[in-house]
Amino acid sequence: MKRIVVIGAGHVGFYVAERLSKKLKSDIKRGQVELMVIDPNQHMTYQPFLPEAAAGNISPRHGVVPLRQALKRCTILTGGVTEIDHASRKLVMQPIAGPVREIEYDEIVIAPGSVSRPLPIPGLADVAIGIKTMGEAIWLRNHVLQRFDVAATTTDPDVRRKALTFVAVGGGFAGAETLGELEDLTATVVDNYPEIDPAEVKWYLVEYADKILPEVGPQMGVYAARELTKRRVDVRLGTTLKSCEGGHVVLTDGEEFDSDTVIWTAGVMPNPLLKQTDLPIGPKGHLECNTRLQVATGVEAGTAEIGEVVDGAWGAGDSAQVPDTSDFPMPYCAPSAQHAVRQAQVLADNIHAKHVGAALKPYEHKYIGSVAGLGLYKGVANTYGFKAKGLLAWLMHRGYHLSRVPGVGRKGRILADWIVGFFTKREMVQLGEISLGREPFEAIAAGSDPARAGKSSS
Ligand SMILES: Cc1cc2nc3c(=O)[nH]c(=O)nc-3n(C[C@H](O)[C@H](O)[C@H](O)COP(=O)(O)OP(=O)(O)OC[C@H]3O[C@@H](n4cnc5c(N)ncnc54)[C@H](O)[C@@H]3O)c2cc1C
Repeated sequence: MKRIVVIGAGHVGFYVAERLSKKLKSDIKRGQVELMVIDPNQHMTYQPFLPEAAAGNISPRHGVVPLRQALKRCTILTGGVTEIDHASRKLVMQPIAGPVREIEYDEIVIAPGSVSRPLPIPGLADVAIGIKTMGEAIWLRNHVLQRFDVAATTTDPDVRRKALTFVAVGGGFAGAETLGELEDLTATVVDNYPEIDPAEVKWYLVEYADKILPEVGPQMGVYAARELTKRRVDVRLGTTLKSCEGGHVVLTDGEEFDSDTVIWTAGVMPNPLLKQTDLPIGPKGHLECNTRLQVATGVEAGTAEIGEVVDGAWGAGDSAQVPDTSDFPMPYCAPSAQHAVRQAQVLADNIHAKHVGAALKPYEHKYIGSVAGLGLYKGVANTYGFKAKGLLAWLMHRGYHLSRVPGVGRKGRILADWIVGFFTKREMVQLGEISLGREPFEAIAAGSDPARAGKSSS
């Protein structure tokens, strides 16, 4: 039996597995091919919905896709790959429990994506949170909502000010959309707290470059910054975080304040798993690939050169450097879902082509622009040169992502969330106690009162 292993069931891995499992349906049925998918989560996360999940516009469960339901012809292993020795076609994975497993394969698709890129900024590792997983989105929602209970209940003005000050560092998709959604949430939620003056709630968006949302182009980026400013978000361009020790935030423009909430989205880096392989890695830590999405060395940026191919190894998405052969002013495809899902199609087709002895095709895609949501009924869009803002852009954002999220059932659930949200009051429940897990029971079992120990927070 030939084994094809897909590492990571994100935008690349999920769509590769889905497409390939259809193309290889009869081979899989006959037991001639096994398509194995390995991911630490039992679901695919549709990342562009993380800000909407954090804001409570969709249920977190609806922003993810259960692998066993969606990829029925695949073998699913839940755990993280820790090493790849491609020379001997073996990998090591750590299941969620129990001993490590060594797995042999014939073909491997390496798509573990990217991770938040932390910088050596004092306090960052202790205080900040990223937004790459559904767990982080849920935590952030609970944490932000709970700040209002902290502020409304404390008698200490410093604790109150710190609780009601929120910072997002990084003005790309993740930072601007998360801030846009959460600011919109807090602007509504504050009405339920007569003790809090809305002017006390302060949001900062800190961006090193001189514009935000480069994905929608400079004109729409300027519009987005202006709209956020109108919503009293303090947008600091050309600025970054100097330190945030103990929640005391110091910006490079000299501003200082205390905040309980620092959302870090200032850049991503390729998954560190790539360093634990014998495969070629580029200068920024990406897997070196050609436009056929084969791992290959000696490929010049921006060209369709084939290079020296590493047989049986394939890569795409955020963790790969794939030459961009369009006239987009970037030598390699930018990390985006737009590239990831399209690369996944070509990658699946090429593995199938190799399997049946057909010719491989190159990945060619001209960036079509993007859509971004900035809270309910607010957004910016720039696709195929068509620029939109406000309600129209927001509808484009929702329509586009609804069409892209896998599965009819998932689409139906998300649509239902939106319709219910439209006709009902904004959901302001926070369930921060889920992160306490067994702690309240342990406290009771130990004879102490969990409420006295403050065991009810996120
Ligand atoms: C908040 C947010 C909003 C975004 N909005 C947009 C948008 O509007 N439009 C757009 O084009 N892009 C957007 N992006 C970017 C887009 O989501 C990514 O570019 C895309 O997900 C990359 O796909 P990928 O398959 O390379 O990685 P991912 O989708 O991140 O998938 C990687 C997978 O690998 C798994 N994995 C990690 N380590 C291991 C391991 N050791 N072993 C096995 N599996 C592993 C992970 O669990 C994950 O499932 C957004 C990103 C974020 C964070």
